[in-house]
Amino acid sequence: MTAINRLKLLGYAADAWRASHGGPAAVAARQRARLAELVRFARGRSPLYRERYRHLPAEIDLRALPPVTKRELMADFDRWGTDPAVTRAGVEAFLADERLVGRQYLGRYVAWTSSGISGERGVFVQDADAVALYGALTLVRGLVAWMTPRRLWGMLRLGDRVANVVATGGHYVSASMMEVARRNRPWPFDRVRVFSAMRPLPALVQELNEFQPAELIGYPTALTLLAGEQLAGRLAIRPALVGYGGEWLAPAARRRIIAAFGGPVRENYGASECARFAWGCLRGGLHVSADWAILEPVDEAYRPVPAGEASYTVLLTNLANRVQPLIRYDLGDSVTLLPGGCACGSPLPRVRVEGRRDEIVYLETPSGEVVPLLPLALASVVEEAAGVQRYQVVQTGPRTLRVRLETTAEADGEQVWAAVTHRLGEYLDAHGLPMVRVERGAEALARHPLSGKFRQVWAELGGGSPA
Ligand SMILES: [Zn+2]
Repeated sequence: MTAINRLKLLGYAADAWRASHGGPAAVAARQRARLAELVRFARGRSPLYRERYRHLPAEIDLRALPPVTKRELMADFDRWGTDPAVTRAGVEAFLADERLVGRQYLGRYVAWTSSGISGERGVFVQDADAVALYGALTLVRGLVAWMTPRRLWGMLRLGDRVANVVATGGHYVSASMMEVARRNRPWPFDRVRVFSAMRPLPALVQELNEFQPAELIGYPTALTLLAGEQLAGRLAIRPALVGYGGEWLAPAARRRIIAAFGGPVRENYGASECARFAWGCLRGGLHVSADWAILEPVDEAYRPVPAGEASYTVLLTNLANRVQPLIRYDLGDSVTLLPGGCACGSPLPRVRVEGRRDEIVYLETPSGEVVPLLPLALASVVEEAAGVQRYQVVQTGPRTLRVRLETTAEADGEQVWAAVTHRLGEYLDAHGLPMVRVERGAEALARHPLSGKFRQVWAELGGGSPA
């Protein structure tokens, strides 16, 4: 991080602290000013927004602006951005090179991919200001806010080592942000290491035992598996802080994680579209950084959903990133805005996020041993194959995975399938699962029967599944 960006980060951190302590009016004033500036900028520099907003008056209300979807933005990528040098072809070439994870695209941007809850691949470019801001919010709302004297002592005693268990091998926001954080975090919060959720569990356990993290961050499914290892005595770490994000944390899994590592556990909510914009508080609330992001819970017709009710989807406006403005962007998550204030006293709005509900799948080795596979790891093995548009991985038997695939318009379906089976084969071999059969599901991708949401990885072993 350059000295200028480090100064920016500290400036944003000071402003975030003042906003958090300034009450609702201080937050609202920042949101209003930043939104007006963002809309003005997008109208001036983004051909896509200029066209969409051409019939709207100069001074507009947020709710009067037409929402945008991932599919629309991806289809019109080159006209969406505010820097003509940013092109879909250029970003894809950058992303195709795994050695460039955490490096800068065009020497000034970061680029992230994600499939999100919709299951559709998206590509997002963020500018240096936005990245500095995400770092500042992490510092002020994710770290300093959590530092009781006891926890601070616990962190420093363990050399403030931060372990992040994430999907690796692609330009995912968590791994990429950690690469950035590893270089950027100011002392004494700079000992960050990424641990691959793609590794077999015994190897991951050994690496964590050697590292002895003060802070353990991961997806709920990864933390659940690690909690089991800790309770069984194979994992022996004493993190002062455990944090999660990216998936829904089931109450039973939360209890298990607390039993293994102590509590409370910190939640964060973010996406490739807007990293880490909501942080959990010590009273169990999840607070949206409303000074930098606007979340509007809405129904299927994009009408506002009242507080206390779970939304169908949520519209995100990212007030920080200028290179690809996101204004009323359909994020796909079900979010509930919680009425009333939080016991912690924060003026930031409190939400509950449904989150991804993918499942750990348990497969059998030739000798009958059971090996757990993390959904985020399986998902990234499949979605990083070139030409994959959407997919689902369903465990249909103790040694069978069924993959449903949608490929991009340009791709050759057979080639994509060959790439997916090759990648999965390598991954399964590495986990001692060479007997697992990967079959192609010809049926269409399905939504979850209860939530209506799209899921990517789960087990369907009931009824007539093969023995
Ligand atoms: Zn709170």
